Amino acid sequence: MSLCYVIDRQHRENYLQNCIIEATQQEITEQSKLLEELSLLDPLTGLANRRYLNRILEAEWTLALKQQTPMSMIMLDIDYFKNYNDTLGHISGDHCLQAIALVLKAITNSGSEIAARYGGEEFILVFPQTNSAKAKEIANSIMDQIHKLEIQHPDSPIHPYITVSLGIVTAVPQKDDLLSDYIELADKKLYEAKKSGRNCYQIAHNSDTII
Ligand code: GH3
Ligand code: MG
Ligand code: MG
Repeated sequence: MSLCYVIDRQHRENYLQNCIIEATQQEITEQSKLLEELSLLDPLTGLANRRYLNRILEAEWTLALKQQTPMSMIMLDIDYFKNYNDTLGHISGDHCLQAIALVLKAITNSGSEIAARYGGEEFILVFPQTNSAKAKEIANSIMDQIHKLEIQHPDSPIHPYITVSLGIVTAVPQKDDLLSDYIELADKKLYEAKKSGRNCYQIAHNSDTII
């Protein structure tokens, strides 16, 4: 009788221990998933960080190469942002970055599209399956929505509100193309947009495959 009791008790103890182990394992899995997600996000804006951007860019580039579909990238930089910080302070600058990030987040609404913080006040947006006509529409919409935020910029030589400049690249990737060359091209186009007065975009594409 007492042997039965000991065995039964042992079973119940084992059962409880297994429950505890299972719960702990689940907690660890959930925690590491959360940590993984956090390590891919920019803490100030909640957008994808550069690490996440690189991961998505590589994947989408490979897919576009395989399927021979156009892919667009937009590099965006806030105009005269140093002046903005210098006049209104760094905290206001942070709020401005967050407001712009919300616009970019909302515009990249499909699963494979992504908006990332690339550097201080620079962002990159990736649009798979997107030709240059659609990329221009998106760029106009971004500029329009940022104007509508009406973020006052007392020290901008070009506009009473915050404006942005954009460099756009649309490409159907070819076998020997380098993704880094296209990012460089987007950067070059952004520089041209700055040179041509800011508050505008410039667009490039690999002309033989433009759609
Ligand atoms: P341009 O029109 O040529 O882009 O001029 P700019 O003043 O925007 O460019 P510049 O590169 O001279 O200055 C960028 C500024 O962005 C300087 C830096 O203090 C600010 N910045 C970068 N990261 C952050 C941030 O996380 N928060 C705030 N508030 N400011 C930032
Ligand atoms: Mg910049
Ligand atoms: Mg700037």
